Amino acid sequence: MSHSTASDLSAGLIRVSAELLPTPGTGRAAAESFVATTLAGLYDDGLPVAGSTRFRGGQAAADAALASLRIDGYATGRNEVFPERERSATALSPYLRHGLIRLVDVWDHVRSAGRTRDADKLADQLLWQEYARHWYARMGHTTKQSVRWGQDPSEQPASPSLRSTIEPGMACLELTLDELDDDGWIPNQSRLWVAGHWTVREDRHWQEGEDLLFRRLLDGSRAANRLGWQWAAGTGSTKPYGFTRWQVEQRAAGLCATCDLVHQCPVENFPDDPRRTAVEQPVELRGSEQPERYAGPDVPLRVAAPDRVWLTAESLGRDDPALRAHPDLPAVFVFDEALLERLRLAPMRLVFLVECLAELAETRGLELYRGDPVAILTDLAVAVTYAPVPGFRRRAARIAPAEIHPWPWVFRPNGGSVVSFSQWVEDTVPDRREASQFEPPSARASEAPTRHPASGPGHELPSDPPHRA
Ligand SMILES: Cc1cc2nc3c(=O)[nH]c(=O)nc-3n(C[C@H](O)[C@H](O)[C@H](O)COP(=O)(O)OP(=O)(O)OC[C@H]3O[C@@H](n4cnc5c(N)ncnc54)[C@H](O)[C@@H]3O)c2cc1C
Repeated sequence: MSHSTASDLSAGLIRVSAELLPTPGTGRAAAESFVATTLAGLYDDGLPVAGSTRFRGGQAAADAALASLRIDGYATGRNEVFPERERSATALSPYLRHGLIRLVDVWDHVRSAGRTRDADKLADQLLWQEYARHWYARMGHTTKQSVRWGQDPSEQPASPSLRSTIEPGMACLELTLDELDDDGWIPNQSRLWVAGHWTVREDRHWQEGEDLLFRRLLDGSRAANRLGWQWAAGTGSTKPYGFTRWQVEQRAAGLCATCDLVHQCPVENFPDDPRRTAVEQPVELRGSEQPERYAGPDVPLRVAAPDRVWLTAESLGRDDPALRAHPDLPAVFVFDEALLERLRLAPMRLVFLVECLAELAETRGLELYRGDPVAILTDLAVAVTYAPVPGFRRRAARIAPAEIHPWPWVFRPNGGSVVSFSQWVEDTVPDRREASQFEPPSARASEAPTRHPASGPGHELPSDPPHRA
């Protein structure tokens, strides 16, 4: 593949581009400069090209995060937001998202820690991630639609940012969005606040908010993000997340006292019930006759000898099965030009990816391209690890890899129901006692939504907050 062969055909209607990029140097400054120059045009240029204050990309940082994992105290502090020292969320998600830490390895580690309340709670959250992956692998782009209840939001002009809908001075949401700006990550509880505020209080489309948050998160995945938004909006559950001051007082002790709006709190009272409409649930929610269609192979499939390992953003770690199988082959990664131009991710996410790739290039040959992965990889004999996302399936069908390695599922999909987390656990997890927390039965599809806080993804059903008139 030659350097800089980008060409526009048919007056720009069909674009074939393949540009071989230089190998980025290691370190934050080199990654930022690589993104600003080499990947210009592929990110949201309204945001500064700066890496995350908290997270560094790469295997070394992922290993360090895993080594400092503390299970003790997880159950008590996992939903805490403020002060930060009270939090016990692991913050492993950026590394899990990109396969630098494999979910199955964390699962094995946590399950080997015994059956404490903390270990059980963390195991449950790992199962939520596995569930999100099964749900998305099965349903694909159908997850763009409301799956269990329809939303009927008020007509409003599109909003340019999550921040534009919050009242200036609101300490709870400003703290949250400042953290998102600096770190590219916020805890689960804060995500529920953002999504509950957007959908229930502001009465906006969940899809619009989902897209805005997805673009800002280092761990942004359509699987977990769509699941989270559909739960918060009440379109994937039956209880929309009615964000109020009550949750802030529970999870951010003392924060309200610092707020400019402490005496005119915009979220003092419960929001009105959002309008919900009945929708026809996609049939694939209930089961699939052909789970192998989306689970990928269960043993390596080889049609020819590979000469490179194709890495995807789903699996950039040392333990990627295809990398492991071919320690002597160079790796290849493609910045998908059309996809990235459309997504307009925060540059912080690209800095994170470049940090991962720069570190990898220290131990094996790496070819980096900017262009169309199908056009670039079709002529190469690549080994790759199956990724359980529709974009991979579509591209791999055209690239025809020489070798495809199985995705390291925690539990291989078996075609059971993904209607609800509890149903999925029942159908998928061989020993149901592995999962300690189920959705309460009241969160089943047949019931009407209520305005109580949701039991949503990774979220316990809190006792009802005191109603404020
Ligand atoms: C509106 C909304 C959007 C979200 N978007 C994403 C996203 O884009 N990517 C993403 O990975 N997670 C997403 N989540 C799920 C969850 O918030 C994050 O996984 C979690 O906050 C990551 O922080 P952590 O690693 O400290 O989690 P911990 O509490 O330490 O949990 C450990 C791991 O379990 C998994 N996990 C925990 N809670 C959930 C959950 N509710 N759903 C799925 N997996 C979970 C994650 O892999 C996480 O890293 C979203 C949740 C909501 C409510």
